[in-house]
Amino acid sequence: MTMNLDATEQRLRSQLSRLLRRSSAVTSDLRAEHDDDWVERASELENDDVLEQLDDLTRNEVQQVRQALRRIQGGQYGRCVVCHSAIPEARLEAMPTADRCVGCQSPAE
Ligand SMILES: [Zn+2]
Repeated sequence: MTMNLDATEQRLRSQLSRLLRRSSAVTSDLRAEHDDDWVERASELENDDVLEQLDDLTRNEVQQVRQALRRIQGGQYGRCVVCHSAIPEARLEAMPTADRCVGCQSPAE
């Protein structure tokens, strides 16, 4: 694996922050003065309270990004979760949260 995982991780982390910021309309009054702190903390949390404030689509994306970050940390990033073959780098570039190779990806998704 020649891919730069640090860059990928950075990319996923900023995506996560962006997704969590989307919920700001719901909770802005709670943390108007601490927005940066909150986002910082929220990106560390595995906290369902945060997720409850997100709509389904955003929540789904947040979970995908978190899982991708966990795979990076666990050294499993870039492997298909179904057949365990390496996911092509170009696919990961296009979709950093991909956890399946093209062959295993359900056409419905
Ligand atoms: Zn596969």
